[in-house]
Amino acid sequence: MLMEKERELIVEYGRKLINSGLTKGTGGNLSIYNRQKQLIAISPSGIDYFQTKPKDIVILDIKGKRVHGDRKPSSEFEMHRIFYERRDDIYAMIHTHTIYSTTIACLNWTLPPVHYMIASAGLDVKCAKYATFGTNELAENAFEAMIDRKAVLLANHGILTGGKDLREAFNITEEVEYCAELYYRTKCIGQPVILSEEEITLMMDKFKTYGQGDM
Ligand SMILES: [Zn+2]
Repeated sequence: MLMEKERELIVEYGRKLINSGLTKGTGGNLSIYNRQKQLIAISPSGIDYFQTKPKDIVILDIKGKRVHGDRKPSSEFEMHRIFYERRDDIYAMIHTHTIYSTTIACLNWTLPPVHYMIASAGLDVKCAKYATFGTNELAENAFEAMIDRKAVLLANHGILTGGKDLREAFNITEEVEYCAELYYRTKCIGQPVILSEEEITLMMDKFKTYGQGDM
């Protein structure tokens, strides 16, 4: 089956999103880009993550044309596609409606560096201008607000993250959600102390060599 490994990973991480409380029901979508084949594997529209099988994953070319699969692709495929077309550091993306990140997105605020873990996404996480879901306008707004970053809030909607693989996109989703929750909680009882740009830049450098690195 075309893109078998990518299909299996999308099924696996879709379930992880539910099990980690990062999404509910059929909310959100995930994709992987195979740059050699220039093909995108993306979750289908409106199918429960625990019902989704590898054969339900839709394969699109880089222009967004369906090349394999009977299912309709996620309605947000354009928001994934333009990143693969224009950014060579992104190979996988996850979009969800997590509660705290979406809370900040409903305020149309930038999420500032309230905790150093935000460095997994960049200096901060900006909020893209509102546009209707599934539109090219939303994709363009998200792209613009995510420049030099690996995450973006979508005004009155949710969050989008990207990374070198699905594991990284998933980790960034978790970390940004954690930072958004801390920001919300600190705002409830006082004024959070925001870290400096210099400190976050240092953290971004440290993260490049932290842990096991790339084997
Ligand atoms: Zn959405």
